[in-house]
Amino acid sequence: RAEGHLDVSVQPFGRRQRMLQARDISPLTRLEQIRRDFVANVSHELRTPLTVIHGYLELLDPEDVPMLAPVLGEMRAQSKRMGQIVEDLLTLSRLETQEHVVDERVPMAALLATLRKEAEALSQGRHQVTLEVDTNCDLLGSPRDLHSALSNLVSNAVRYTPNGGSITIRWRRTGDGATYSVSDTGYGIPASHLARLTERFYRVSSSRSRETGGTGLGLSIVKHVLNLHQARLGVESTPGRGSTFSCHFGPERLLDPETP
Ligand code: ADP
Repeated sequence: RAEGHLDVSVQPFGRRQRMLQARDISPLTRLEQIRRDFVANVSHELRTPLTVIHGYLELLDPEDVPMLAPVLGEMRAQSKRMGQIVEDLLTLSRLETQEHVVDERVPMAALLATLRKEAEALSQGRHQVTLEVDTNCDLLGSPRDLHSALSNLVSNAVRYTPNGGSITIRWRRTGDGATYSVSDTGYGIPASHLARLTERFYRVSSSRSRETGGTGLGLSIVKHVLNLHQARLGVESTPGRGSTFSCHFGPERLLDPETP
């Protein structure tokens, strides 16, 4: 024990070996643990009542209660938004406590095609969407988490780019690794905000984020997923001209394409 901040125990490891495990239990770590558990529990408890409220709202027919018609749409939209926040908080809690990701092949050609379709569906013809690919290597990691992170950058690009703008999704070799990036010709972000973008609920403009349906947790999720894959998030942005968010993966996360 060192100053009472380390909890040391002996754990079984394999059939014959034992592992010495040391856990940091300093007051700060314990507080952080309490915060995480609290957020996870609250989110979990909110899930069921929200599902019930949302279900009943969907059942209500505005024609049966004409007085309610003007507010019903708003109530549905807000309960959906709250549900999305709860799901994002649960995802974050899971990612925060997770130490490793599953190491599966993530076929990039298929994923990039899906991301492009998602961008087009979200944009509904309001932006020009381009996909530029100069490598056929795949990624090694969690297909579900990588999809969610890479798709978050696409949906941000669409949401923060006015109609008529363009969005470019790229997957290319850079140095000994590979980089996925999403560029847009949108509102851009002032330099003073860049360092805080991945904090929970941090927004450059709360009203714009809410209007476009954001939960304020997207980039936090992206950062956690990338950390678990030892990847780096980069942002370059010029206010009024646009932004590029990039994810740099090291060589240990790249796989040559499968031979048929
Ligand atoms: P939100 O749900 O609010 O979009 P995010 O965590 O995804 O939350 O992003 C945090 C903030 O970063 C956003 O509120 C927005 O101000 C800014 N942001 C993210 N992506 C972009 C982008 N492509 N262009 C301009 N601003 C962006």
